[in-house]
Amino acid sequence: KTFEDCGFSSQLMAAIKKQDYQKPTPIQCAALPIVLSGRDIIGIAKTGSGKTATFVLPMIVHIMDQPDLQKEEGPIGAICASTRELVHQIYLRVQKICEITWDTCLCCIWWNFKELKVGCEIVVATPGKLIDMLKMKALTMLRATYLVLDEADRMFDLGFEPQIRSIVGQIRPDQHTLLFSATMPRKVEKLAREILSDPIRVTV
Ligand code: AMP
Repeated sequence: KTFEDCGFSSQLMAAIKKQDYQKPTPIQCAALPIVLSGRDIIGIAKTGSGKTATFVLPMIVHIMDQPDLQKEEGPIGAICASTRELVHQIYLRVQKICEITWDTCLCCIWWNFKELKVGCEIVVATPGKLIDMLKMKALTMLRATYLVLDEADRMFDLGFEPQIRSIVGQIRPDQHTLLFSATMPRKVEKLAREILSDPIRVTV
């Protein structure tokens, strides 16, 4: 399998080439076609497997598919991760993947209020901070249709389940949801079954 098989635009292919990704990693091979087809996914994969690109690349495709982008209505994609450090890591990687494809603010980290105010297509935050931002009306989820829950098991360990459920409740019901977890304890499985719609499970 190659990245070309995914049917990415030439812009996105250029971004992938710039990252020096020669060929897709196993999680990318298995999950990219599923995510690109619009199905919800449970990805059981660890950090270092290349899962960030698995959710970021289709997210960019999804954003580029939107007919007219009105930034004021809030982000289209939301990525939740367990800690500030992880959120920052994801943010930097999204920025890197997108430097070719975007010239204005595409992805915003929760603590950058200035950029949030200007508007962005993707927001990265911990579930708690995302809820805080919503409460403060720093952003809305009115047009969010693509939700990523990264390292769901760690978010559970940190007690983020109520916040995750609240975020899911505030996003449009036709959302596309991707859940990644290194392990699949019963409580995470239960949440996945409740919030994902007919998901495909991929284990690498
Ligand atoms: P992640 O699991 O998403 O945190 O990615 C781990 C590391 O693998 C990051 O440094 C990525 O830049 C790198 N990576 C992701 N996909 C590929 C790929 N297809 N080929 C080579 N490196 C990759």
